[in-house]
Amino acid sequence: MKILIVEDTHSSLLIITQYVQRFGATAVQADNGERAIEVFQAERPDMVLLDVILPDIDGFAVAQRIRGLEENGNWTPIIFLSSLDKDEDIEKGIAAGGDDYLTKPISEVVLGAKIRAMQRIIQMRTSLVVLARKLDIANQELMRLSARDGLTGIPNRRLFDEYIAREWRRARRGSTSMALLMCDVDHFKRYNDTYGHQAGDDCLRQVANAIQRCMERAADVVARYGGEEFAVVLPETQIGGALFMAEKIRHAIHALHIPHSDSPFGHVTLSIGIAAATPGDSDEFEQLIEAADQALYHAKDDGRDRVGRPALTASH
Ligand code: GH3
Ligand code: MG
Ligand code: MG
Ligand code: MG
Repeated sequence: MKILIVEDTHSSLLIITQYVQRFGATAVQADNGERAIEVFQAERPDMVLLDVILPDIDGFAVAQRIRGLEENGNWTPIIFLSSLDKDEDIEKGIAAGGDDYLTKPISEVVLGAKIRAMQRIIQMRTSLVVLARKLDIANQELMRLSARDGLTGIPNRRLFDEYIAREWRRARRGSTSMALLMCDVDHFKRYNDTYGHQAGDDCLRQVANAIQRCMERAADVVARYGGEEFAVVLPETQIGGALFMAEKIRHAIHALHIPHSDSPFGHVTLSIGIAAATPGDSDEFEQLIEAADQALYHAKDDGRDRVGRPALTASH
């Protein structure tokens, strides 16, 4: 424990230094206000004993400067030492950032007791800071987890809802086109019936990873939209780019070669509905979802394992 003693009267400085050392702490000294601030910065003491009347700037100003120097989260107890014992001086000292007040002549026993009390507060404060840090980390992890789908690890529906709304507003502001792909695993009920639910889960994980690997830009986001459905948001993308991405994804699923004996294709396939639009003032993103859903429906109706485009494309 390091204590900075700021005192301009030499005899007092010596006596208080002795008290501090006998208490078992290390003493560092300053005999004026400016020097006190220099020593504070260089030594970063755990506590400051601060005389009020100093030859240059007074102790109240020193306390204010010390408070200004503390990095966020840090706090150094300041105990004022003064022969002034008027109530207003106590008030002024606390207002300037002081934590306690001792009147001279200083009693060794009282000084020791005050230092001990301050130590206790420092310890409590330190454990609180540590606890707050842990809580912060736990909260971040919770935030991360609450945005992820438990089965596949990709963003979940909640994150998708937030993301599409945000990107839709951005597209409106920038008058840019945004695209949406709705991907649905073909004959997945039969896959579960044939291979079991566990295998079905494993298949969904593989499909999710494969789609994720197809994403090209940082803003491209794939989310698990529902059971065996995945939604892909492609900001700053027109219908042509959407079609390209959809075909890329469809081929990536082919390349997984996941056997599906009860599918006419013999392996797991995806149907994908695509839509793209530049949001007008009154357009809602739900219309984009609706258009991609319609397109998906057509892809299913036309035989599956294909990309469907909206009958009436909303793109410009
Ligand atoms: P279609 O080709 O028309 O899309 O047919 P489908 O069988 O894929 O579609 P349907 O909507 O009839 O069935 C979807 C199936 O997906 C039924 C459901 O049990 C299954 N499923 C949904 N979520 C999960 C999941 O988390 N794990 C597993 N194993 N199966 C799931
Ligand atoms: Mg003095
Ligand atoms: Mg489905
Ligand atoms: Mg399906």
